Amino acid sequence: MIIDCHGHYTTAPADLQKYRDGQIAGLKDPAYVPQKANLKISDDQIRESLEGAQLKFQRERGTDLTIFSPRASAMAHHIGNETTSQNWTQACNDLIKRVVDLYPDNFVGVCQLPQSPGVAPANSAAELERCVKELGFIGCNLNPDPSGGNWTAPPLTDKHWYPLYEKMVELDVPAMVHVSSSCNPNFHATGAHYINADTTAFMQFITGDLFKDFPTIKFIIPHGGGAVPYHWGRYRGLAQDMKRPLLPDMMKNNVFFDTCVYHQPGIDLLFKVVPRDNILFGSEMVGAVRGLDPETGNYYDDTKRYIEALQLSDAERTKIYEGNARRAYPRLGAILDRKK
Ligand SMILES: [Zn+2]
Repeated sequence: MIIDCHGHYTTAPADLQKYRDGQIAGLKDPAYVPQKANLKISDDQIRESLEGAQLKFQRERGTDLTIFSPRASAMAHHIGNETTSQNWTQACNDLIKRVVDLYPDNFVGVCQLPQSPGVAPANSAAELERCVKELGFIGCNLNPDPSGGNWTAPPLTDKHWYPLYEKMVELDVPAMVHVSSSCNPNFHATGAHYINADTTAFMQFITGDLFKDFPTIKFIIPHGGGAVPYHWGRYRGLAQDMKRPLLPDMMKNNVFFDTCVYHQPGIDLLFKVVPRDNILFGSEMVGAVRGLDPETGNYYDDTKRYIEALQLSDAERTKIYEGNARRAYPRLGAILDRKK
């Protein structure tokens, strides 16, 4: 089985964005009170939005199941207040649940969190619990920078985040560390802000004692771990100088990278330096990079091709495609076993 750990509903029907546009427009009015979404999206519209995109690519590329979450760049936690974010988040998560119900063999849900700058992460715990217990989701996307590029929140290893981590551990679900859009013009969202955040999170994990306090908590750092694999020697050396654990020991059962790296040399490097127990297959399809690579004639985000080109044993390939995902998402096993 080939599990793609990183997919977003980037093709959601237009009514979702219409609701969001209304929310954003309302913010200009001081008397505005954010309203819950009343979306009139039919099952057929959902089918239509997926059949020509995510489902088509799953079939063409030969992947089986996508761990699917709301569009990351649209989370935009910096817009409006906590209620704005709550309502927007619930609307997005409920739509993911409908996708999973329509295509239970193709998708399993991961939620967006209703974060907001300056608001305690503890306030996201209730929506996480709703998504896991009522909607059957298996993880969340955690934005380390709800300010959208200004980095006003404490590091991920700070106790500020602990109440949410306690809920994650209680529910046995991981978080993918995933920023959203950038309102800082220095940082292009998917080209700079995303990769910065991945790299930043890894360095925070090196310096903090998070995994002593939460031995079973799990994080997925997407986009191949940002700049980390390329600078593996730098991070090894920094950890050594700071008398911190070796990187493979730090990552062991707590930190995973995905394979959303859109060229063969990048994947080759990832597999050369990062422990193979800590790599999850992912493509972020349909996502940030949608074009065809003229050098290969294939889609940049057709990451399965890069994995197939590696010299992996069958056991290793199974680990990358399925086994490691079962470890990173402890609730996934029960869902997969039910399907059999
Ligand atoms: Zn993503």
